[in-house]
Amino acid sequence: NLTFMLRFNALNSVQNKKPLQVAENGKRSELFAINVFNEVAMRQLMTRDAFDAVMNAIQYGTKIDRRVADQVAASMRDWAISKGATHYTHWFQPLTGGTAEKHDAFFEPVTRDSAIERFSGNQLVQQESDASSFPNGGIRNTFEARGYTAWDPSSPPFVYGTVLCIPTIFIAYTGEALDNKTPLLKALSAIDQAATEVARYFDKNVSKVTCTLGCEQEYFLIDRTLANTRPDLMITGRTLLGHEAAKGQQLDDHYLGAIPSRVLAYMRDLEQECLLLGIPVKTRHNEVAPNQFELAPIFGEANLAVDQNSLLMDVMRKVAERHDFVVLFHEKPFAGVNGSGKHNNWSLVTDTGVNLFAPSKTPQKNLQFLTFFICTIKAVHEYEPLLRASVASATNDYRLGANEAPPAIVSVFIGEQLNKVLDALENMSGEEVSGKDKTELKLNVVGKIPDLFLDTTDRNRTSPFAFTGNKFEFRAVGSKANCGKPMMVLNTIVAKQLIDFKKEVDSLIEGGMKKEDAIFRVLRAYVKSSKAIRFEGDGYSKAWEEEAARRGLSNHKTTPEALRENITDKAIALFEGMGVLSKVELIARYEIALEEYVKTVQIESRVLGDIARNHVVPTAVRYQNTLIENVRGLKEIFGDAYQEVASEQIELIRHISEHIKVIHSTVEAMIEARKRANHLATFVERADAYCNEVKPFFADIRYHCDKLELMIDDELWTLTKYRELLFN
Ligand code: ADP
Ligand code: MG
Repeated sequence: NLTFMLRFNALNSVQNKKPLQVAENGKRSELFAINVFNEVAMRQLMTRDAFDAVMNAIQYGTKIDRRVADQVAASMRDWAISKGATHYTHWFQPLTGGTAEKHDAFFEPVTRDSAIERFSGNQLVQQESDASSFPNGGIRNTFEARGYTAWDPSSPPFVYGTVLCIPTIFIAYTGEALDNKTPLLKALSAIDQAATEVARYFDKNVSKVTCTLGCEQEYFLIDRTLANTRPDLMITGRTLLGHEAAKGQQLDDHYLGAIPSRVLAYMRDLEQECLLLGIPVKTRHNEVAPNQFELAPIFGEANLAVDQNSLLMDVMRKVAERHDFVVLFHEKPFAGVNGSGKHNNWSLVTDTGVNLFAPSKTPQKNLQFLTFFICTIKAVHEYEPLLRASVASATNDYRLGANEAPPAIVSVFIGEQLNKVLDALENMSGEEVSGKDKTELKLNVVGKIPDLFLDTTDRNRTSPFAFTGNKFEFRAVGSKANCGKPMMVLNTIVAKQLIDFKKEVDSLIEGGMKKEDAIFRVLRAYVKSSKAIRFEGDGYSKAWEEEAARRGLSNHKTTPEALRENITDKAIALFEGMGVLSKVELIARYEIALEEYVKTVQIESRVLGDIARNHVVPTAVRYQNTLIENVRGLKEIFGDAYQEVASEQIELIRHISEHIKVIHSTVEAMIEARKRANHLATFVERADAYCNEVKPFFADIRYHCDKLELMIDDELWTLTKYRELLFN
């Protein structure tokens, strides 16, 4: 164990501990985005033509021609070199999570003894990459394992370390998306079009609607040297065994508590790195569990916010190295201790500056608010299984529905006052809604809304999808997740709903109804038909599970089950109809997700088997031998009376043997189950087998190992314990 620690310490000492950038002096605002090739930098450094071309590409998705691209690339190169970059990379988000990059040098020899720094428009705009080692779900055969990365001008390039990172999409040679960004961009475009059309009922000046996103990132910080003594933490990102500490989070003394100075130093360093990269980090605080923290940026345009969250996670890992911490993004690193999520705060804003989910005091505007609000609730009701599937992963399965995180059932919380508003709307008679002189009533209904926002205290922490004043908050997203996935689904379903809404309202208007009345009529029908999704009670309770079943809501507790929702006829019709994902892409994604699931559970199973046999059992035997030695000695001294004197030790010897026996037989049985699972033909069968045949052994093995942890001499125990890992 000691050698293990020393080995990792040695590795650590090789790492560069110097911060990448130092800028302790001066105001932090002066650091903001200085390593980002944003509008300010472009305006300064690019020709007018090049600048206009990029701005048009950002705003309207127009193509940048190759000559202009050369100019853009040249400016970008010079800027990046001035920031210390020597390489560039097409930075993208593969379906396996995280980010991917392959660095190419600007440096290019021209003759035998001269060289230049080169970066052409072609190199900026598109790269062919050998993508054979990224999963493709059968889209490409390996012999044509070509993929393309293509520049996404709506997310600005940035210099990170010594590399110019160019955000790109990643698609197959045959055109199918192989990443999270491509369908997200399509979904964002769909919501833009659909929401703009609807917003124009209320204001003809609206020509664009942007989705905004703020991700609250939760994480654990663990001392690196201690974490290194735990193969489970290092390999799987979570502890596969370990008994709860005597003092955990029972006292609730950690939430918003004072941040320990060592952690604060980490946060300061991290925030500085983030600001340089244009990530507007704002809030930091202790979370509920020991060693758990949260970092929230100020919200921004969704595509950029997703990119920045991916980048943030990477920066967090790197800065943690400098501070001898390990940062854990796993949704449930410690049993019995709260897990980590990533609340996705979601809203829509018009180019006239109106947040479509912010109620206002004028009735006209409030009708607009109600329209978007109710359409969202309706969309969530219609497609709740897809939202559930969008956050499904092997790691999030340990968190969802675990009595401290949102349940696996999706429901919408809107608070008491808005419920009253919707109930009033629902209970109006058709007459009242369409009648001429009933404006009074409408005003009454909508007039209730503004009061709500003086009081947002009745926020329901158990709800997976909650309205929080001027935005919805999707809370079931896992801390490790790429937010692109849930954001793609949410925007697609709401876009679809808005399109349907528009059709219904238009047809009523064509039939001679007044616009406002038509809108009210359709909204009222939506309030009625989507009632089942609204829930204000305790989402963690057993009663809600039963009630939700009666309401016909899905409750998929495992990833393989949840993922099936992505390939139903309804899902395929939705995503194809909205132009977001094709059937081929959906099936490929389904397979990739299942494959990832299988691998994750398989690795956990192997590591657990190894630790149980190589750490726990040998340690138990060693301690048992000490006890046996002790009993022998007592026998020598006390003769026949030893049985009485050594009864505790003898009992302990017996218990240890019993636990060892069960551990051995359970690990054997688990290995057999794994073998059977591995031989199944499809990923669907394999995922089911890993979920239902292999995973259930984990809890048994853990139970007996944790019992031994309590019995065995602390000095002998090789694995760092919870009370040592969770120091704060
Ligand atoms: P908490 O849920 O922890 O109480 P806050 O109310 O501070 O959090 O806000 C959480 C997140 O919501 C922040 O990242 C914030 O930027 C984001 N947010 C606020 N307004 C919007 C909006 N209109 N669209 C998207 N995100 C928003
Ligand atoms: Mg929140």
